[in-house]
Amino acid sequence: MIEFRDVHKSFGSLEVLKGINLKIEKGQVVTLIGPSGSGKSTILRCMNLLERPTSGQVLIAGKDITAPKTDIQGIRKNIGMVFQHFNLFPHMTVMENMTYAPIRVNKLSKDQAEQKAMELLKLVGLTEKAQSYPGKLSGGQKQRIAIARALAMEPEIMLFDEPTSALDPEMVKEVLEVIKGLAHTGITMALVTHEMGFAREVSDRVCFIDNGLIVEDADPAEFFSHPKSERAQNFLDMVL
Ligand code: ADP
Ligand code: MG
Repeated sequence: MIEFRDVHKSFGSLEVLKGINLKIEKGQVVTLIGPSGSGKSTILRCMNLLERPTSGQVLIAGKDITAPKTDIQGIRKNIGMVFQHFNLFPHMTVMENMTYAPIRVNKLSKDQAEQKAMELLKLVGLTEKAQSYPGKLSGGQKQRIAIARALAMEPEIMLFDEPTSALDPEMVKEVLEVIKGLAHTGITMALVTHEMGFAREVSDRVCFIDNGLIVEDADPAEFFSHPKSERAQNFLDMVL
C-alpha cells in the first residue's frame, strides 16, 4: 500500500532523509519511533506529498506519487492525517467540520454526509458533541473528532503524527483507544508515537529511525526486548 524506494529529502544543505526504503502492506500498522529530529514526521509527510522527496520514489497502492503530473488531491483524499495539534476549523461546529470535505470533495449530499458523520461520532463516543464548537471541547475530545473527521473521507490509509503528544496525560488513553479500535480493521496505518507500550501492543512492525535512516525494522516484541543496534538500545534506555 505504501512503498518508499531510496527516498532522500534535504532542506537546503541539511539532508534529513538519507535513503529510506520501506514497505507497508495493506491493512498493516507500522509505528515509527526514534529521537526528536530524526526524520519521522518528514517520512509521514512524504507519504501524502506534504513534503516532496529530493530523490527516490514513493508509491501508494502501486502508483508512483512522486512522478510528475500526479493528481495530488486525488491521492490525499485517500490518506487521512492526524497531527499533534488538532487542526479543527474553529468557526465550524463538529458536524460542519466533519461534513465539509465529504460534501465538497467526495460530493456526498448533506444528508449522506451527516449520517456518515453521526456513525463516526458514535465510533469515537462523541455523538452528543455534534453541534458543539471545537473551543468547547477538551483536547482529547478534539483529537477524537479530528480522527473521526479524517475517517469521514473513507481513506484507505491513516497517518498519525504524535497524536497524543499535545494532550494532558489523563486524555491520552481515550485517544489511543480510538486508534487501537481502528487498527487491523483493514485500514493501513503509519504512526509516530512516543507511547512505547501502545506501539508494542498495536503495531505489526516497529521502525526505529535515527539520523534520517531506518536503523531497525522489526517485530515489536523482538524490538522492545532485543533491539539489535546500540542506538536503539540507548534510545529505549532513555524512554522506557
Ligand atoms: P522528527 O519528526 O523525527 O522529530 P522531522 O522529520 O520533523 O523529525 O525533522 C527532521 C529534521 O528536519 C529536523 O532537523 C528538522 O529541523 C528538519 N526540518 C523538518 N522540516 C523542515 C523544514 N520545513 N525546513 C527545514 N528543516 C526542516
Ligand atoms: Mg515529528
